[in-house]
Amino acid sequence: MGDRGWRVSAWPTIRELAAELADDRLDGAACTGRASLFDAEVDGEDDTDRAYRLDAAARICHDCPVLVACNITARELGGQAVGVWAGRARGVPRPHGRPKAGAA
Ligand code: SF4
Repeated sequence: MGDRGWRVSAWPTIRELAAELADDRLDGAACTGRASLFDAEVDGEDDTDRAYRLDAAARICHDCPVLVACNITARELGGQAVGVWAGRARGVPRPHGRPKAGAA
């Protein structure tokens, strides 16, 4: 994988911390070590790059052995579960220029 300017950090991300706090249900997660791919936002990323990245993350989820447990965990975390969880993007910024659903 080439360098796309994604943030790389030695510090655990919110997702990794949440996974540790949740319990052992997410052991064996396919996203282990790939947290930045699943984050809601990445510095310097435009709407198109975000859409491709989140789609790639969601495809990884489809083969994840803990998909069901991840979905349960995400529901338990509510608004704290941001980024891609269980194949679904949650709490990610809307693309620029796109109105809220239901806006007139
Ligand atoms: S379903 Fe996706 S976000 Fe959840 S643990 Fe698996 S790879 Fe990670």
